[in-house]
Amino acid sequence: MTSRSSISHVAVLGAGPAGLAAAHSLTECGAPVTTFEKNEYVGGLCRTMEHNGFRFDLGGHRWFTKDRELHEWFLELMDGELVTVRRKSRIYYAGRYFDYPVSIRNVLANAGLKTSALAAASYLAAVVRGAFSRKEPANLQEAFTLQFGRKLFEMFFRQYSEKVWGRPCREISADWADQRSKGLSVFTAIRDAIRKRRDVVSLIDEFVYPRLGYQRICERMAEEVECRGGQVVLSAPIRSIAYRGPHDFVLEHGPPGDSEHLEATHVVSTIPLSHLVRMLEPACDAAVRKAAESLCFRALITVTVMLARERVTSDTWLYVHDEDLIFARIHEPKNWSDAMVPDSRHTSLVCECFCSPSDATWNMSDEELVDRVVTDLADRLGFLSRDDVIDSCVLRTPNAYPVYDLDYRRKLTVIRSHLERFEGLFTIGRGGLFRYNNADHSIEMGRRVARRILGFEEDPGLVNTERAYHEEMRGASAHAWRSEPRDPGESRSCDSAW
Ligand SMILES: Cc1cc2nc3c(=O)[nH]c(=O)nc-3n(C[C@H](O)[C@H](O)[C@H](O)COP(=O)(O)OP(=O)(O)OC[C@H]3O[C@@H](n4cnc5c(N)ncnc54)[C@H](O)[C@@H]3O)c2cc1C
Repeated sequence: MTSRSSISHVAVLGAGPAGLAAAHSLTECGAPVTTFEKNEYVGGLCRTMEHNGFRFDLGGHRWFTKDRELHEWFLELMDGELVTVRRKSRIYYAGRYFDYPVSIRNVLANAGLKTSALAAASYLAAVVRGAFSRKEPANLQEAFTLQFGRKLFEMFFRQYSEKVWGRPCREISADWADQRSKGLSVFTAIRDAIRKRRDVVSLIDEFVYPRLGYQRICERMAEEVECRGGQVVLSAPIRSIAYRGPHDFVLEHGPPGDSEHLEATHVVSTIPLSHLVRMLEPACDAAVRKAAESLCFRALITVTVMLARERVTSDTWLYVHDEDLIFARIHEPKNWSDAMVPDSRHTSLVCECFCSPSDATWNMSDEELVDRVVTDLADRLGFLSRDDVIDSCVLRTPNAYPVYDLDYRRKLTVIRSHLERFEGLFTIGRGGLFRYNNADHSIEMGRRVARRILGFEEDPGLVNTERAYHEEMRGASAHAWRSEPRDPGESRSCDSAW
């Protein structure tokens, strides 16, 4: 244990997975905690919307962690609420459907011998180049090309990445590829496709999902926090954070004109880093403010259409690469849980459209968005006819994806070294650390920051920094999970969340 200053009150900013996990762990040990959330609901990006009997996540969320202890904690928290989902994903590319993860037979059948041969040749060229060069990739395009070769980059990475990030792969940091695909060489993918390895927990498995939607994870944490005497205050945006000295903060929260103040010894912030910098008093230096303002987040518009159809697809996710289709990913919530639809005669499709605040897509009206989505679903994918559509819902989410531009590391260093001066302030989470977290990473950060505040030697900043491929477990850990199954539906695999 390290020494700790006494905790008279912890203020947690944001009731998403990171903030609630911090509050959950702190209240478990009896610490006084108030969580402030600007929305009228908990969950943050893990929101599940309910609309006229239909339920859907902002984009289908699945639970995955390589950390056995965290998984055990999750199963206990969600006891009795989980269903098992069989995973089947596809990629729509150049008008054809490819299995995901990619299988060789399927690529050959879809792309043809000539394209497949070109892909193999460019991959081999990349391997040879890699053998003679130790050059670090300067951007995402170089990172993918070095790993997969030019042709596979063009086929399976470029369009989708550019749709998600809204800029050429040359303008995105190679770190993103590191976090998402390190270790997934074509060689590994091919070898695993040909020879099913027993020590790899497969990508194509099953996963568990909260029957009523992913937001239940946060709702369950909030319920337990409140049971233990912690407070979760909704519709309470934090407006300013005054630092009067070490472990001495005053927070202003609530609606303009009717705000209140709270004193705290510790502040755990999960709100976007750029917003936090603006709220701090004394005001941050101009250089810090400039760095914070230039951190960019990608926004998401979720367009959901409700259908008088029993089912449209059997996919868990469908990745849509073609640039002229407005959405980049689709999921059908009914394929995740029957409880996501009002009855068996209906289904829905959730279409994720990536954009930036103030761009043309963001500025389309809800009617225009629904019309465009239905046109693409009907005329391009042949998934439905217009008469099937009985209802729709459009949700806009700013700050959904931290954009790793080529300069983001420097900006983060400037901001973080300034924030170190605020003794008792901790930043964690996807927006809070400006790190491409999944929900399990944010929860783990929350749990670790709580331990740190309680005086243990912990560094929440180390979560989600490993450079191993994210979606599979090999060797000993895979065996360990297999040999002691908790229940037949226990999940260990993951799609990338992008
Ligand atoms: C489309 C999509 C699909 C995803 N799929 C998956 C998946 O399959 N699996 C997975 O594990 N993860 C997935 N993720 C990632 C997951 O949603 C995030 O990692 C997780 O929600 C991050 O939690 P957080 O608590 O760090 O941040 P957030 O969820 O962003 O929570 C931050 C909270 O702070 C609140 N806040 C902001 N400003 C203020 C303020 N001034 N005052 C008070 N409160 C404030 C926000 O309202 C929010 O509730 C996906 C994300 C998206 C967008």
